[in-house]
Amino acid sequence: MPSPLDRILNRALALNDLTPKEGLALLAIEDEGAIAAIRAAADELRQTLVGDTVTYVINRNLNFTNICEQHCSFCAFRRDAGQAGAFWLDWDTMLAKATDAVAQGATEICMQGGLNPDAKVDGKSLPYYQRLIRNLKDQLPHLHVHAFSPQEVQFIAREDDLSEAEVLAALQVAGVDSLPGTAAEVLDDGVRRVICPEKIDAASWLRIIGLAHRQGLPTTSTMLCGHIETPAQQIHHLDQVRALQQRSRTTGAPAQITEFILLPFVGQEAPRALRNRVGRDQPSLPHTLRLTAVARLYLGRWIVNHQPSWVKLGLAGAAEALRWGCNDIGGTLMEEHITTMAGAQGGTGLTVAELQAAIAQLGRPAQQRDTLYREIGTAVSPSDSSLPPSSPPPAGLMGSTAAARQSRNHSRTA
Ligand code: SF4
Repeated sequence: MPSPLDRILNRALALNDLTPKEGLALLAIEDEGAIAAIRAAADELRQTLVGDTVTYVINRNLNFTNICEQHCSFCAFRRDAGQAGAFWLDWDTMLAKATDAVAQGATEICMQGGLNPDAKVDGKSLPYYQRLIRNLKDQLPHLHVHAFSPQEVQFIAREDDLSEAEVLAALQVAGVDSLPGTAAEVLDDGVRRVICPEKIDAASWLRIIGLAHRQGLPTTSTMLCGHIETPAQQIHHLDQVRALQQRSRTTGAPAQITEFILLPFVGQEAPRALRNRVGRDQPSLPHTLRLTAVARLYLGRWIVNHQPSWVKLGLAGAAEALRWGCNDIGGTLMEEHITTMAGAQGGTGLTVAELQAAIAQLGRPAQQRDTLYREIGTAVSPSDSSLPPSSPPPAGLMGSTAAARQSRNHSRTA
């Protein structure tokens, strides 16, 4: 007679949608052997859905400004105009960064910025954002521009008194190819009132992502975890993301969510109020890894690509997450500012060789992909990679990694 845990895991492995109650049951488990079983099931489901190959993308982050009208309580990136550390890149600098990225093999620019009310052309926001895109696309037409969160879409719409659909359509015509599913944080308005009270509410995030899909703009999806949210709120977040993907797919929307990225809270440099309330700088690696596995099981066949954040976990922590249900190690980034300014120790950029070496240590092939998970070139087998990964897990996570390694030695049915 299978145990209640085995029943849940077997249902997930048979590609059934777990219920919120089942997801919550998985997050309530503290027994090491049972957690090892959850890990093994997530790893097996990953293997079933997408195989053993670990993908990566060569990309560059381009944060065009950190001047922002909002004051999210986890954000160490934002500045007021004129404040020390404020920046706003000019057109030539942005183009030079994108051109340099392409010279290094980048296929994607990921562009996001603060909500800067002064970023306007002829008194309007939308023309400024359109110019951001055209500035790059006119010179680099094949570059995939992955740009502007639902929050930025809503900001432009509000500033120019346009509908969100009008903004999305105009950005797409200008050359936006897909949207980052950032600003989701936790899709619970009670949590949002504490950590990001000025941001769009959960329903608006879901609405704008759904609109993007209907318009043919693929998106990613994210969750900022490990701060004040409860396990029930984490599962509710996953449930809403899954339901959104189901709607987009079953209604024949021309685009969908391409991946899910779990973003552990990094609080070392975050504003003191939230740091004090959370009571730690970062969630522990074991908790993050368990949630990584549960997200894989919960999102099931609906979202098959799962990515850890090496910026937040360090490369070794991200590589560990590839054993807990993830199949993609993310991008080279080249210059990451937002999380690094919050105190993350993972680094601001990684080389392809470093990503491939981290993947090779797991004995799995590495494959370059584009933003939409289409393969580029041929896969690299583990024996072809020799460089050691460069970034250790953040100091607070080091001990936890060993514990996680220990727990994976337990069998699924232990
Ligand atoms: S998270 Fe984004 S919206 Fe919030 S304060 Fe920071 S830059 Fe502004």
